[in-house]
Amino acid sequence: MGISRRKFLLGMGAAGVVAGGAAVVPMARREGTLVAAKSRALFVPGTEGALPKEADVVIIGGGIQGVLSAINLRERGMSVVVCEKGEIAAEQSGRAYSQIISYKTSPEIFPLHHYGKKLWRGMNEKIGADTSYRTQGRVEAIASEKELEIVQDWIKLNSNPGFGSGLNTRIIQGAELANRLPNAQTEWQLAGFEEDSGSVDPETGVPVLARYAKSIGVKIFTHCAVRGIETAGGKISDVVTEKGSIKTSSVVLAGGIWSRLFMGNMGVDLPTLNVYLSQQRVSGVPGAPKGNVHLPNGIHFREQADGTYAVAPRIFTSSIVKDSFLLGPKFMHLLGGGELPLEFKLGPDLFNSFKMATSWNLDEVTPFEKFRTVTATQNNAHLDAVFDRMKAEFPQFEASEVVERWGAVVSPTFDELPIISEVSKYPGLVINTATVWGMTEGPASSEITADLITGQKPVIDPKAFSLARFDK
Ligand code: FAD
Repeated sequence: MGISRRKFLLGMGAAGVVAGGAAVVPMARREGTLVAAKSRALFVPGTEGALPKEADVVIIGGGIQGVLSAINLRERGMSVVVCEKGEIAAEQSGRAYSQIISYKTSPEIFPLHHYGKKLWRGMNEKIGADTSYRTQGRVEAIASEKELEIVQDWIKLNSNPGFGSGLNTRIIQGAELANRLPNAQTEWQLAGFEEDSGSVDPETGVPVLARYAKSIGVKIFTHCAVRGIETAGGKISDVVTEKGSIKTSSVVLAGGIWSRLFMGNMGVDLPTLNVYLSQQRVSGVPGAPKGNVHLPNGIHFREQADGTYAVAPRIFTSSIVKDSFLLGPKFMHLLGGGELPLEFKLGPDLFNSFKMATSWNLDEVTPFEKFRTVTATQNNAHLDAVFDRMKAEFPQFEASEVVERWGAVVSPTFDELPIISEVSKYPGLVINTATVWGMTEGPASSEITADLITGQKPVIDPKAFSLARFDK
């Protein structure tokens, strides 16, 4: 399958509009500062009454990883308590772009994505409620011979993906592609089409899962920050929260961007660094492309179950903070070689990061109580630019309007793989954190987490996600 010279150049020219895809754009901006925020997710009332005196397992964090780990463990017959310092899905899980995809993922994380997608497809039926998950199909246009080769090789490599479901990704062209991109102003010739990709509206998905968790007996305490974990005789004995202690021998840490700070106080280094992103929703319009569209001229949008469109600039902002100095060298290789544009920002975050407590006693107020919900302020210039590009490519969106904008934070490791791992220093503790694809991986990574807690053979070998990899 070939691609004409003219279209190749057209694609490349367009990619230049968004800083060349792989470019690093150092610049100082006022946008992109960590601030306190309100949740944008559907409200989930916490369990009423006093904190239980004991539980089989305590889960720290009420995002997708915490909530799905709780469901998994409860379904295995355990008594489960989730402690969330703010509200359910108020941080990353309620602020994501939330496409459920496996397209071009690396061999290490492909199984998490492929299996995660399968579990999502059965999720609404399983829990008897509408999480907003939809299988919708995703088109990613191909604009160069090199990219075509990469996609062809990836499809070949993953042609037998396992988990009882096929790959369902192929290259499309002609009328099939044109139908997926109605009225596109660029004559795209080829695209990778992930037919079974999905979508979850972030403001709905995890809250609906949390309500299901409560219905099967998981106790969820919101505004309940965990200060730390106590041990006795080398084993976990208690989880200490701002509302009192819970006796337990098993803990899951699913604290999102806070996991590094939490484990730092326990003497375990999680090498994760925060990066900021901006998101928006715009209104749907007649004749708009259906499903999920990713074009190399910097246009990325996804139809939501509610008929609006999530539109993402996909530009990462690295705010210079204390951790930038501590971890920067480990992340250096990501600069310039990565797929996504990256900007740097110098602002109040630097001063604030030096003010943030990094160690405390368990009878003291911790940062988790001081910062119930945080986010990054959005970059309106990035958001305007991607919306303009979208309207230029699909003029039917001229009639569309911005519904909502927000900023968000992710906290990846320097190898861009999640941490799903036991902790040798604390038997009984499993960490499930540091993913940038948590909405897709959540169902699979939480099953691995539950396997590790219950001592079963993990459904996917978690070696690539273990803490031990950082010792090398
Ligand atoms: P979170 O959702 O952040 O949850 C962690 C929770 O732990 C928080 O609610 C926090 O308050 C709580 N907590 C922390 N410390 C404590 C404590 N000490 N005590 C009590 N509670 C505590 N993924 C995809 O698969 N597809 C996408 O298209 C996609 N797009 C994204 C776009 C953006 C803009 C962002 C931000 C993320 C995107 N992601 C996507 C990634 C995905 O959203 C995350 O990987 C996932 O939500 C992480 O879930 P989590 O449960 O680990 O963290």
